[in-house]
Parts: sequence; C-alpha cells; structure tokens
Amino acid sequence: MFAKIIIDQDAKALDRVFEYTIPDDIQVQVGERVMVPFGKRTLQGFIVDITDNCEYDASKLKPISSKIENFAVIKPEMLKLMKYMAEKLHLKLASVLRLFLPSEMRTDKVKELVVRYVKLANNFEMPSNRAVKQIELVDYLKANGQKKFSEVSNMFGYATLSALVKKGAVEVFEVQEDREPEFDVVKNEHKKLTDLQQRAVDTICENKTYLLHGVTGSGKTEVYMNLIERQLEKGKAAVMLVPEISLTPQVLANFRARFGDKVALIHSGLSAGERFDEWKRIFFGKAKVVVGARSAIFCPIENVGIIIIDEEHEQSYVSESNPRYDTHMIAEFRRAYNDCTLVLGSATPSIESYAKAIDGEYTLVEMPVRVNGMEMPKIMLVDMLMELRQGNNSVFSIPLKYELQSIVEKKKQAMIFINRRGFSSFQRCRQCGYVAKCTDCDVSLVYHRFENKLKCHYCGKRFKALDICPSCGSHDIKQGAVGTERVVEELQKMFPEAKILRMDNDTTSKKNGHRAILNEFRNAKPGILVGTQMIAKGHDFEDVLLVGIVDADQSLYQSDYRSIERTFQLITQVSGRAGRSENQGKVILQTYSPRHYVYRFATNYDYKGFFKKEANLRKVTNFPPYARIVRILFTNPDEKIVAQDCKVCYNKVQQIRDKYQNDFVYLDVMKAPLNKIKNQFRYQIMMRFKLEKADEIEKAVFDCIDAKCKSSVFFEINPNNLS
Ligand code: ADP
Ligand code: ZN
Ligand code: ZN
Repeated sequence: MFAKIIIDQDAKALDRVFEYTIPDDIQVQVGERVMVPFGKRTLQGFIVDITDNCEYDASKLKPISSKIENFAVIKPEMLKLMKYMAEKLHLKLASVLRLFLPSEMRTDKVKELVVRYVKLANNFEMPSNRAVKQIELVDYLKANGQKKFSEVSNMFGYATLSALVKKGAVEVFEVQEDREPEFDVVKNEHKKLTDLQQRAVDTICENKTYLLHGVTGSGKTEVYMNLIERQLEKGKAAVMLVPEISLTPQVLANFRARFGDKVALIHSGLSAGERFDEWKRIFFGKAKVVVGARSAIFCPIENVGIIIIDEEHEQSYVSESNPRYDTHMIAEFRRAYNDCTLVLGSATPSIESYAKAIDGEYTLVEMPVRVNGMEMPKIMLVDMLMELRQGNNSVFSIPLKYELQSIVEKKKQAMIFINRRGFSSFQRCRQCGYVAKCTDCDVSLVYHRFENKLKCHYCGKRFKALDICPSCGSHDIKQGAVGTERVVEELQKMFPEAKILRMDNDTTSKKNGHRAILNEFRNAKPGILVGTQMIAKGHDFEDVLLVGIVDADQSLYQSDYRSIERTFQLITQVSGRAGRSENQGKVILQTYSPRHYVYRFATNYDYKGFFKKEANLRKVTNFPPYARIVRILFTNPDEKIVAQDCKVCYNKVQQIRDKYQNDFVYLDVMKAPLNKIKNQFRYQIMMRFKLEKADEIEKAVFDCIDAKCKSSVFFEINPNNLS
C-alpha cells in the first residue's frame, strides 16, 4: 500500500502530493497526520489518499516514519474542500489544510488540561480528635464526594490536605478536562415569535440558500435559534457565523442559555488551550452548534443541517491576508456537500447578495418591521458647513449637543460613532507643513493623547509626539481629523456627570475587552459609548435612545467601489442601535455633503431604493457584481525587485488583455496607494473585466506569475481594500 501525502510546508516547490510506502507495523487511514522523511529532515504531512499502486518508482519510495495522532484529523468533506479551494482560489494545498486545524495543534504548544481531584480513600482512618481541621476536611469530602484539589486546599489549607494524603486517607487523581470559554449567564427565554418571525421560520425549510433581509431589531437572532432548534431535533448540527468577536458576548450568552453545552465557540480571542479544546469538542461530536467568527466555517462538524451567516454584508467575512478566501463561497460549498440550508442574514445585505436574490439564485425572506412594532429611529441630517458658517467649529453640532444634554438629564444612554481611533488623524506643522510619518510605512502617524505617542496604525510602531516641529522648530502644531479619544475628552468636559466609555481597537485589545466595556456600559446611566464601527454591530441596549454619527463622510470618500455601499450600511447599522425598546430612538448624522444620494436613502431606511441606484451605477460603469476586479499585489523589501517582478507579470497580463480585448474594461500597473508597509514596498496590477469569460481570464491571469518572481504575490478578486 502507498500513501499520498501533502507536506505541511508553505512552499511553492512542495505544493503537490508526495508518495510514501506504509510500513507493516503502522496502520493509517486517509486524513491522518504523519511524520515522513523529507531530504535530510523529518516533516509533518497529511495523508490525502491511500492506493494499491504508485506512480513513482516503488523501490525508491521511503516509508512513513510515524503517526502523530491516532485519528484522522482531516475529515472527507474537508479533503474535498481542500481540493476545491486550491483549484478555485489558486492556493497551496498545505496552506488550505492549515485553515482546518487550530494552529496550536501544528506547533504542539498546547497541552491537554489536566485537573487534580481528591476523594476519600475507600478504607480511610478517621483522624484523631485533636486534628480538628483534618476532621472538617474529611467530613466535607464525605458530604461532597470528589472535589478539586485546589479548591479543597484553599478551604482547609495545603498542610492539612497533604497530611491526609500522606496518611492515605485522601486519594489524589487526575482528570483531563476541556477548557471552556467564558460567557455571560442569561436566562433562556423562549419568546413567542411575531408573525413575521414565524413566517420566516416556516419559509426557511428547504435545502437551499436564503437571504433574510430583516431591519435592525426585527429579531433575526430569535429566528436563527428556532431554525437551529429544528435541526437539532432532526439530529443535525448547525454552524452560525457572526462577524466579530465584539458581537459574540451577547449572542453567545443567548445561545448558551438556549442550547447549553451543545454550543462550541470559535474565535481569535480564545486562548490557545480554549481553542484547541473547543475544536476537539466539535471534532468528536460533543458540540452540535458552532458559533464563531469567519474561521469557524472550517470547523470539523459533521451532519450539518444549517449554516447561518449573520450580518452577511460584513467585510470581515473576507480574509484579507493569505490564504485569501470568501466565507460565503466556503459556506456555499459546505451547504452543497451537506445538502442543507444556508441563511444569509442582514439589515443591509451586500449589493452582491441582494442582486443574487433578485436573480433568483437566493430566496429572499423579508422582515421589514421591528419586533417592538416601533418605527425606525428618525435620522436627522446636520450640515456641518452650515454649523461652521454659524460659528460652531466644535466636533459636535448644536442639535447633537442639545440631544446629548437631554439624554444626560433623563439618565438614559447614547452612542457616538466615529470611525477613527486615537486622538487625531495626524500632527502637522502649521509653519512648514511637516507631517510626522512612520519610518517603516508610507503613512502619517496618528496621535494618541492618552499615551502621548504617535502610532502607526499599519505596523504598530510608536514615536514621540510632536510638541516642536523637527524640521523648522515651530511650536505651532496642528491636529488632524478628530478621533475617538478626542471625542471622549470633549464629551467628558461637557457632561462631567455622565459615564463616558470608549470602545475601539485600543481599549479592547485585552482578552474579553469588549465584554468588559459592554457590561460596564449596560449599567452606566447616564452613559455615552464612543466607538468605531465596533459599536455598530448587533448590540442591543434598551436605554440607548440617541445615536450620533460624528463624521459620516469618513467612509464615503475612500477610493474603492464599495465605499458608498459601506457608508449606507454603517449608517443603517449604527442607527439601528437606537430605540430598541419601548421608546423611539433618534439619530443625528453630521456631514459635509448633505446632498449625496447615499444620505437621502439612508435617512429614509430605503434599502431597495439604494440598491436600485447603486446596482444601476455599477452596471453602467462595469463594477462588481456586474464585472470582476482582480488586483495582483507584489511586495518585497527591495523596491527594484518588486518593480521588476511586477513589470514582468504585467507584460504577460497585457498579452491576455490583447487576446480578450472585448472583455477588458481596465488594466494598469502602478505603485500601490500605500507604497510601503512594514518596510515592504508594494506594487500592483489592477484590472477589471466583464463577467462572460471572467473565470477563463482569471485563470489565465493567475498563471502569469513568473517562476523567477522573488516578491510575495497576493491575488485579490473584487478586493475590499485598495490601499
Ligand atoms: P436584529 O438582530 O434583527 O437586529 P435582535 O435579534 O437583536 O434583532 O432582536 C431585537 C430585540 O428583540 C432583542 O432584545 C430580542 O430579545 C427581542 N426579541 C426578538 N424576538 C422577540 C419576540 N418574538 N418577542 C419579544 N422580543 C423579541
Ligand atoms: Zn515646521
Ligand atoms: Zn508603520
């Protein structure tokens, strides 16, 4: 017998199947990990096939050295998915396989969690009457059976416990336990579904893909839980994806309350041990409901009845680093493999998904009304140019100040959304124009007042803040656009009696950071939560009656084709945080471009109108989903090399363009807008072509990379971020 093996190395030269012989004393099956001799080394590999014949000269094949686990870590579905992804996304086999395992499994860094327990020995002797503590301990164990060593030791003292152990009265034994992620405890309430919810649950019953378009507060989570319940009753499993960890505390708490320890949680905020143990619970079928961020789509769960992608429009569902993949595509693969239901849910579906619903590829299910029957919060547009003309140059417009004042007086809550962390976006000398920039990246540095440092948001490097211009010596330093820190500072000045909290990447970097801030905010009355897009997502606070959007234009003028769509989504999502209980909420939206069409549709919650306008625009200008964009990004620490590699590739792509002249809409080569990040120079080839022959062209373009290319190459289809 022969084993076909993929070596677990991320190298182009090893990106194929290698053959080994199977020694008689080793029993292996497909999907197992093994150690194999490779050149002078012994490397880890995955068995992807076992055959009677080999393609290579059998006498020259080497035998497998040993097994790593005693079970197949890669299940048949995942082997198929590996092939599909490698082919479709042009990824290396090993780098796809790595997505399927917790990384700590490959590095052997995690140990199983072993807990020491104590119990009374079968024929123990009662301690003498003078040993009062020992008697107490024995009585305690008599009453309680086995207890954790650490617990008993804390209660009665280590000396007492170890004395009894020494005498043989108490036995110590070890149990291997699963680490469990923390979660908040909430009551399990089976809510009576509204008519709309019931209709959604009844409709979503076939093995196909549904787009659930439900306004914010329409009760989508309850629908998801009912759908999952139905699958569990049928003995099937469920996967539910949420965009970001900041969302999971509430969702997980609800899921835990409903499904108990059938729930497993997977996201990047877990410790290595927790992630490993959750993975094992899923792998061995103990967990039936997986809740997690993007990477949970690769969980080794079997017999899947339903996959749900909540907030399906979120960018975080596309991995922006290698290996690049789109969660929707993987979900669709698993849906087809398991012949099950896929639900994409959102209040603001992506233009791509909604277009598919209109074309009949997805089945559209709508929940246009909030559970509480309340109208959507009124969105008031404030023209900041007018404010400026009237002499108000502060961060807050007069109406926003007025509404905040009223919230504070009523001891209610508000959220202020500003999609920029730090204090100000840059520091610039007013005299000579000097701007502080990162030494390793081609970006200006962001001022952080709390630490009094300039930080690079691309590489994390810190620099001294400017009080004097290093170029001309002037003290006249100008602060750039306002960030979260600055907003908090100003609010605290205006409302000293209110609790002001900040939620952004800087305040949530610690484990459970989001949960801590959200829990603190829950009890802060009056309270104002200032935050980046993290606060836009899914949070459900009944006392939030006001949402302020400080700088709505910020996402509007970014250079990619989705920026208007993203602005619409952000406004709708943040606005959706207000008025979720019995009082209607209010939203103040500050902008310098009040006449932009995105604001007209957003303030009326007119998703369909917006879709029509935006889809039409993309159709006539040839942008996705009606055309395809491919970007090939080259990076290398040597600018000459990267420019050369890029040019060689560009010449080949040009030939493809000449062949498909009628399909290409655009092709160009250039420095990336951010020319350098972390001392890596960046060059790119951008192209756009029509859909008809898109797959064919895409394949040809992927083959343009020269074998001699020294730079790292990154392919992106319809990229989110063009910097
Ligand atoms: P969405 O995700 O659609 O924005 P949520 O799922 O967060 O909405 O639900 C909004 C609120 O309504 C939550 O507080 C939820 O507990 C509550 N809710 C959902 N369904 C019902 C129901 N059938 N009856 C009463 N309250 C409900
Ligand atoms: Zn200067
Ligand atoms: Zn930097």
